[in-house]
Amino acid sequence: MTDSCLHVAIIGAGLGGLAAAIGIRRAGHNVTLLEQSAQFHHVRYPPPVTALRSPPPLPCPSRPTPLCPRLLESYLHRHGSPLNPPQVGAGIQIPPNSARILRNWGLIPEIAKHSVQPTEFRLRGWKDGRILHRMPLSHESGDEDGVGMYFIHRADFHTVLVDEARRLGVDIRLGSTVAGIDFEEARVEVVGKDAVK
Ligand SMILES: Cc1cc2nc3c(=O)[nH]c(=O)nc-3n(C[C@H](O)[C@H](O)[C@H](O)COP(=O)(O)OP(=O)(O)OC[C@H]3O[C@@H](n4cnc5c(N)ncnc54)[C@H](O)[C@@H]3O)c2cc1C
Repeated sequence: MTDSCLHVAIIGAGLGGLAAAIGIRRAGHNVTLLEQSAQFHHVRYPPPVTALRSPPPLPCPSRPTPLCPRLLESYLHRHGSPLNPPQVGAGIQIPPNSARILRNWGLIPEIAKHSVQPTEFRLRGWKDGRILHRMPLSHESGDEDGVGMYFIHRADFHTVLVDEARRLGVDIRLGSTVAGIDFEEARVEVVGKDAVK
């Protein structure tokens, strides 16, 4: 450990906390990641994402507001994606600017295994589902480096980041709820456990 090596405490092992942990660890600092959950709920929903590449358009009811949650749930049931607890989030779009960072970290091959790359955005009318506008997305021209866009389930994205953080030696402490931070002493108070300095 050199003089410039810091010990950084990060509160929360969500997507942001994990990404920060990976970036800081790669910069050569030691990282302790404190997460209140006792375990990660890495639920993967059947069917595999490839089967969901071209689902039929979501039918639009005439009175959408009160019906929509039920409609969405039955749609997902019919197309094989039950909304079972524990729910750890849903789809995450990884745009080219984020994908470029993940590529620099060497994570794109793992991300690509669990994601789809959209070919276009479609804006639909809420009344009849009619396509109002199409926005083509070319993977090759995702950005100037040719990094594309990925759609991934949050649980899969989270798993990739947890695995990478562990591989880099981030100290992930589950069941660690932070109750306070002492900025003067650079101490993080953890409920029922030793403080982290
Ligand atoms: C509906 C929705 C859709 C989204 N879609 C996208 C998208 O397509 N693309 C995209 O890039 N972003 C998207 N986001 C945003 C993205 O999810 C957030 O930016 C990201 O999750 C933030 O990461 P985070 O680590 O700060 O928070 P979170 O991922 O929410 O994680 C916070 C973590 O902190 C833990 N925690 C909280 N309090 C304590 C405590 N006191 N002690 C210890 N641990 C604690 C929690 O248990 C949790 O694990 C979306 C967000 C929502 C709500």
